[in-house]
Amino acid sequence: KSLPYFCRGEVIRGFGRGSKELGIPTANFPDSVVDNLPADISTGIYYGWACVGNGDVYKMVMSIGWNPYYKNTKKSMETHIIHKFKEDFYGEMLSVVMVGYIRSEKSYPSLEDLIAAINSDIEQAKVMLDLPENSKLKEDNFFTSTS
Ligand code: ADP
Ligand code: MG
Repeated sequence: KSLPYFCRGEVIRGFGRGSKELGIPTANFPDSVVDNLPADISTGIYYGWACVGNGDVYKMVMSIGWNPYYKNTKKSMETHIIHKFKEDFYGEMLSVVMVGYIRSEKSYPSLEDLIAAINSDIEQAKVMLDLPENSKLKEDNFFTSTS
């Protein structure tokens, strides 16, 4: 199995499906990062650790899904970092480790239901990442060798 899975790439612009307006901005990885995903990483919601540039390491939730821009033939990887940033960080290097799987992709009857599901993912991620075997990955050398 491929978890934990470490990767990094530049933060690119998505096509503004309004994640930020929902209060849940998601930093998008370029195709080069998505194309390198091991075949056994399925679509769905993951939790892990993330850092922007040489910044602090924060908890994250990541959605891997089918990208409508490519008529759902290509995957997308979108990371929501559980931290309030003062500014956007498009063009910066985002480093992540995917630690565990939360659930598969679902469609929700309403926006309210979607937001509730994401908030529940975030709460689950927080708890899981506090477990010793998961929290130790925050200190991994991967996050300190970003120069
Ligand atoms: P896009 O469609 O361009 O991905 P989003 O509404 O999803 O637009 O916003 C994503 C952007 O918001 C990120 O690329 C990043 O620059 C910024 N951002 C600010 N705070 C966060 C955060 N906590 N997690 C992820 N991205 C954030
Ligand atoms: Mg996004």
